[in-house]
Amino acid sequence: MRIYIMTDMEGVSGIRRGDQGYCKAGEAEYARGRKLLTGDVNAAVEGALEGGAREVVVDDAHGGGNHILVEELHPRAVLESPVSGRPGQYLPSLGRRFDALFIVGAHAMAGTRRAFLDHTQSGTSWFNYYLNGKTYGEIGQYALIAGHYGVPVVLVTGDLAATQEARALLGKQIETVAVKEALSRHVAKSVYPPRAQAMIRQAAKRAMSKIGKVKPLRIRCPIKVKLELQRTDLADAYDGKPHIRRVDARTITCTVPTQADILNF
Ligand SMILES: [Zn+2]
Repeated sequence: MRIYIMTDMEGVSGIRRGDQGYCKAGEAEYARGRKLLTGDVNAAVEGALEGGAREVVVDDAHGGGNHILVEELHPRAVLESPVSGRPGQYLPSLGRRFDALFIVGAHAMAGTRRAFLDHTQSGTSWFNYYLNGKTYGEIGQYALIAGHYGVPVVLVTGDLAATQEARALLGKQIETVAVKEALSRHVAKSVYPPRAQAMIRQAAKRAMSKIGKVKPLRIRCPIKVKLELQRTDLADAYDGKPHIRRVDARTITCTVPTQADILNF
């Protein structure tokens, strides 16, 4: 079986302060953040292999990519990063040949209470994102892109709010691991990382047995995308683009043909 692992950083075990730069190159705790991220990812790779995977592709997808320590990556995994400016840019080699998607290090959608660093794509420019009138965050976006290829999500790890969002959207049969719980947007209480990694490894192994039982996420197509931005100038940037309609000072809409296109506008 072939597994694609989408990774983010805000939902990694041990990253429990939002204001100390764990997730941003050049900032105070970034070196530790990278190491913690690599640990959670390797645990998911190990569990996938124990569960029967023979190919594992890891997508280093937190802002800009290049956060996972490639020298410390599990030797059986292959590493890639998003490729900007083309369809499917966030999960570049995901396709029908994969059997399942894992999401490691996830955070909840913008506007979630008691969620560590909740946001959708951009904490500074996106306010709310809707598809066919329903709000989605990044877990939903990646599940829908995978769903376009017939690939189900069987494992989500992150803070408690992210795992709750995943189960509400994808069903209770998927495997989730809450590695921490937010006390505020910027402070979480975390499980000891080696223990969180053992939990991830076991859940990843169990998730392999859910392949074939969990359905890929699908919604009605074509899809109406609505994006509420945080400020008017951010919406101004879309003026004059064909296919995009300015609904009000901060809101744009467009229609995209398939689930693979929901982030291309
Ligand atoms: Zn991120």
